[in-house]
Amino acid sequence: MNNPIWSYYVRLYVLVILTLFLSGCATSTNPSKPAAPATQVSKFTGLPIEQGPSSLGAEPRKEKVTHLILHYTAGTLPSSLDILQGKDHAHKVGIHYVVTDEATPRVIRMVPENMSAFHAGKSGWAELNALNQRSVGIEIINLDGNVHPYSAAQAEVLFTLCADIIRRHDIKPVNVLGHSDIAVGRKIDPGTLFPWAKLAALGIGAWPLPDEVKANLAKSKTPNAVDVRKLLELYGYHLEAGEPGLKLGLEAFQRHFRSAKITGVADSETVAILRALVRRYRSEELRRARLPKV
Ligand SMILES: [Zn+2]
Repeated sequence: MNNPIWSYYVRLYVLVILTLFLSGCATSTNPSKPAAPATQVSKFTGLPIEQGPSSLGAEPRKEKVTHLILHYTAGTLPSSLDILQGKDHAHKVGIHYVVTDEATPRVIRMVPENMSAFHAGKSGWAELNALNQRSVGIEIINLDGNVHPYSAAQAEVLFTLCADIIRRHDIKPVNVLGHSDIAVGRKIDPGTLFPWAKLAALGIGAWPLPDEVKANLAKSKTPNAVDVRKLLELYGYHLEAGEPGLKLGLEAFQRHFRSAKITGVADSETVAILRALVRRYRSEELRRARLPKV
């Protein structure tokens, strides 16, 4: 097959394998030099993945992987690696991958994907509760993704890693989520500065079609609070009862899809985005739910 992208990755893969082989030889002739961490290279993307310290917070996976969950660590690389080893049995934590914040960011694996890691906690999305068994988790080193932008280099490595995981597990766009999406009112990572729109432009995760949002805004039909709750739940969000539950749900939604303005209010722009997403990704569920036309 004469696919230039594919042949680029094949060449990259061969080059990296060759480099690893040669450096392995060099290490064996110099036993005083500490061995470099074992690194695997993705056969799809050429991304090197370093084997890091293992998280103890892991258990055998009993379900198929269907979701990808993104987090920031709220700590530096050394402190995050310490915590993510999950040595504190009172707070069992773990993660599959860490993306570092170095000038040349690295991907470190702590739990293999055939194990489930403890990163989602109390969580829910659409028909599922407790997403650890169904998800792969990535922690991005960032002290606060609501304050500190993700660097372009870090984002690029993250995008490549996401693309690789999504391709291998065939994860749907609606199931590429932030911790804040699946733990409404409890978590705010990966934060308002996370580049969801850029990620979606590369075909990773869900995003509304801009023309649909514009058309919805032009109609300026604002549904009542009950409709908004139904639409949020139909899209996937798990909401607590009452007005406070709806407000937290809207905040979580805005964190992901309208991060410039987190109000918890169902303003016309927020509702226009929500309608466009439901139509694009949840048309089946919408038909079954027999909701009024969105
Ligand atoms: Zn998190």
